Amino acid sequence: EEKGTGVSAEALRELYPVTATKIYMNLGEPDVIDKYVDLPFDGIGLMRIEFILTDWIGYHPVYLLETGKADFFVQRLAEGIAKVASAIYPRPVVVRFSDFKTNEYRGLRGGEKYEPEERNPMLGWRGVSRYIHPAYEKAFRLEVRAIKKVRDEMGLKNVWVMLPFVRTTWEVERVLNIMAEEGLERNKDFKVWIMAEIPSVVLLADEFAKLVDGFSIGSNDLTQLVLGVDRDSQLLAGMGYFDERDPAVLKAIKMLIEAAHRHGRTVSICGQAPSVYPEIVEFLVANGIDSISVNPDAVIPTRRLVASIEKKIMLRRLETIEKMLRSLNT
Ligand code: PEP
Ligand code: MG
Repeated sequence: EEKGTGVSAEALRELYPVTATKIYMNLGEPDVIDKYVDLPFDGIGLMRIEFILTDWIGYHPVYLLETGKADFFVQRLAEGIAKVASAIYPRPVVVRFSDFKTNEYRGLRGGEKYEPEERNPMLGWRGVSRYIHPAYEKAFRLEVRAIKKVRDEMGLKNVWVMLPFVRTTWEVERVLNIMAEEGLERNKDFKVWIMAEIPSVVLLADEFAKLVDGFSIGSNDLTQLVLGVDRDSQLLAGMGYFDERDPAVLKAIKMLIEAAHRHGRTVSICGQAPSVYPEIVEFLVANGIDSISVNPDAVIPTRRLVASIEKKIMLRRLETIEKMLRSLNT
């Protein structure tokens, strides 16, 4: 398609600078992809589906199931994902299964009676723990069917998935079994990632690595849980406690990358940290992260920064090699 400048999207894409570290973009609202499709990103590293659930569907999935309208849920969710996947094809879209907390699910029409009051929703029934619970498993299966529809019926094989708020290996095994029962299994062109948001995933990364294709660091939740700081607390944030650059958070990230790479698994990051702090981007690239997913307005600045960091690293290595060769030859 021709732009006002007479430059085609294809010509533009030929110019995309290739960095060893992939640059992905985060996205939540399917329609905004039209505005950003030509940005130089390598894929969508985090597609949140919560916006589709609230604005395109609006009803609680269990309510829809019980009123015989489950197909509506699958259809709308598939449409939202397909909108993005077709716009950027063949670049991958990593779709994150829903990660509402109980208080958020209760806001969906018909949802009150399915959502218990929790003292601490942030640490409660969210992420994978919902998918394997008898009261929600059927709803999770609808999300899986939507993914399957997009991949198999619409032919958009560039759709991968990601599991949020993973706590244990056994829950991942159970979710993978549910997905397999729906006909969705990991293979060479269908990757399943888990989010690293809870310190248990970092501590047992070697075990988790055996189950999935990759990790994506949710630095918002990881910071909250490594430091024990409520991410929504203005008081603590004002005192400087919520800080992704804290050495404990950085150490967790480094440990995860090392463990994942020992097992040939990839590591990405999709929290806010690299969109906000250039020094974190530098840290991530220096430690060999595979991809960095940032907000749309951070795509170009991050690509530029990563290119300059990689160049610096390459030149430094070349110097080291030259020195080593000289000492070998003398
Ligand atoms: C994160 O925790 O960093 C993340 C990307 O997920 P969310 O912000 O949706 O919890
Ligand atoms: Mg999170």
